[in-house]
Amino acid sequence: MRVVKTPLDVRRAVADARTHGRTIGFVPTMGALHDGHASLFARALADNHFVVASIFVNPMQFNDPSDLAGYPKTEANDEAICRVAGVDLVFRPDNDTIYPEGFDTRVVPGSVARPFEGEHRIGHFDGVATVVLKLLNLVGPDVAYFGRKDFQQLAVIRRMARDLNLGVSIIGCPTVREADGLAMSSRNVKLSSDARTEAACLSRALSIALDRLRAGDSIAEARAAGRRAMSTIPDADVDYFEIVDRNSLGPVSEDMVQQAVVLVAATVGGVRLIDNMQYDEGDLT
Ligand code: AMP
Repeated sequence: MRVVKTPLDVRRAVADARTHGRTIGFVPTMGALHDGHASLFARALADNHFVVASIFVNPMQFNDPSDLAGYPKTEANDEAICRVAGVDLVFRPDNDTIYPEGFDTRVVPGSVARPFEGEHRIGHFDGVATVVLKLLNLVGPDVAYFGRKDFQQLAVIRRMARDLNLGVSIIGCPTVREADGLAMSSRNVKLSSDARTEAACLSRALSIALDRLRAGDSIAEARAAGRRAMSTIPDADVDYFEIVDRNSLGPVSEDMVQQAVVLVAATVGGVRLIDNMQYDEGDLT
């Protein structure tokens, strides 16, 4: 496994793989890697001959400076995880490489980026779309892999890839969870032990809402049941708990309920967490 820092080195390594007829899979990350990231590497390796992972904590997508400053950094461990997974190339650029002096362009995604995270983290998806477009341009993969854990992010990137004719397939991969259902996240290490126990309420509430939908309850009833489950946790400050169409992230009708995704964001013990579950496991279109 090679670790490179410059655009020239990443382009050369990918060009070399291409001259050997290899297909290129790409997994962008912000480091602090865990089994959720490893599942993306595994899928990329199963589908492609040559896999590139990037590790870059993107300041442009943080609306809260203390969140950026406190973002976990586990550099040596990250490289070990990539090596064990079988990643071929790690692209770990410096901030100045991605945002050199005078950098002054930003990608502004449309309607799918506006509600939910877009409302609660102003500018977040501009930062995500800008860095992902840059990374896709630098790496030039055939396929890029993203977690459904960040469901709205996946929808935003899908839309950008289509709207801007990026010529890359965007694959959404299932969420990897802890034994009690908590979605794995780099931020989970920031939970105190009490908050860690309470954090399982997000996935429990999502399951409750989905069980209701599958049992034939209305969307309003299922949403109310999920919200009730969230409200039993004293330390959870809920930003949203909604049931929407998985492609548009707008309202979903009762007769298209199999297209539904349940989305939640809550701050538990001072740590903001997001999670979601789909009615069925179909990928976004
Ligand atoms: P991050 O490093 O948090 O920016 O995440 C990098 C990629 O890993 C994104 O596409 C995330 O959606 C994905 N990811 C994060 N957590 C999980 C998880 N628990 N299961 C699957 N994918 C995940």
